[in-house]
Amino acid sequence: MNIKMVDLKGQYEKIKNEVDQGIQSVIDSTTFIRGPILTEFKSDLEKYLDVEHVIPCANGTDALQIALMALGLEPGDEVITANFTFAATVEVIGLLRLKPVLVDVDPDTFNIDPERLEQAITPKTKAIIPVHLFGQCANMEAVLNIAQKHNLKVVEDTAQAIGADYTFSTGKVMKAGTMGDIGTTSFFPSKNLGCYGDGGALFTRNEELATRMSAIVNHGMYRRYYHDEVGVNSRLDSIQAAVLKAKLPHLDSYSLARRKAAEFYNNAFKDVEQLETPAIAENSTHVFHQYTMKVNGIDRQELQQFLKDKGIPSMVYYPVPLHLQKAYLDDRYQSGDFPITEDLCARVISLPMHTELSSDQLNYITDNVKDFCNKLEKIG
Ligand SMILES: *Cc1c(COP(=O)(O)O)cnc(C)c1O
Repeated sequence: MNIKMVDLKGQYEKIKNEVDQGIQSVIDSTTFIRGPILTEFKSDLEKYLDVEHVIPCANGTDALQIALMALGLEPGDEVITANFTFAATVEVIGLLRLKPVLVDVDPDTFNIDPERLEQAITPKTKAIIPVHLFGQCANMEAVLNIAQKHNLKVVEDTAQAIGADYTFSTGKVMKAGTMGDIGTTSFFPSKNLGCYGDGGALFTRNEELATRMSAIVNHGMYRRYYHDEVGVNSRLDSIQAAVLKAKLPHLDSYSLARRKAAEFYNNAFKDVEQLETPAIAENSTHVFHQYTMKVNGIDRQELQQFLKDKGIPSMVYYPVPLHLQKAYLDDRYQSGDFPITEDLCARVISLPMHTELSSDQLNYITDNVKDFCNKLEKIG
């Protein structure tokens, strides 16, 4: 059985005509940059997200950087984010000479812990970057309340959660990435809405921010060849826009396929003592960018090796907390300062998760995982 962490080929084959036609039309038109297809995708995504402005850019890391640039932060300003995330989030904070402040996460949802977030605020704090990790929203109601109380900007890192819905206590439902001042996402091929190269986007409801971000992505030009501020060159090319335009109408069915695979895993593992299946946040749907469990009392590396021998890939997202990464070591933080993140880094494991998992594959994966756990029980 050919099992992959992500099956982009199988997904492509089902929408081959739409994708191929889109790509071919870009080649025929030779408008490889800023063609009409980019405008079409932008407006399709604005409709899907129900947000006023989408600004496409070159990748999800640039999107985070451009968001922070547009907020006009000054070197030394503090930006709070979750410790348990992909490094891009702190990378851009560091690149802009801002000061990353890390916060531990909720042990069940893996997302930023609002209580600890509020404790981390100082007079220098200017912004918060909640990360909607693995496909479900951080506790945005709490984050937005805290931001409002302390006059902070909110940039949602939605690289892993495009399409997730968040329900506020008023009953209002909003898409991940559209609740804060700015949302950012990545269209890296393996993301839930992935293109065939690098890509990313920013979302906002604020017209001023939209204007500023549209200029920053294009060398700070508000008018052609008039550079009003320092920008970057960060574009989504037309071929990627064509792929994304073809895939966007399928995003909800992709999310559903992921959710179904996750339910299969959950059911299979519900009585397995050594496995803690992912918790669902109270107010968010889960689009399962990753299916990430915690292991209890078993050797994670042995489990991974056992699965590998059976042809089943698995991954650890993420093995090292940010405060212990060489590039981000900081006198303020020591080992032991973030007990939950450190525990998660030691215990999480992610199983294959994509839109093309068959029930045969899911049975094979879950049977083998259970086999490993049962064997241990007998020896133990
Ligand atoms: C993938 C990812 C990014 C970066 O996106 P790229 O397009 O690879 O630059 C940022 N944040 C998170 C949480 C991610 O998963």
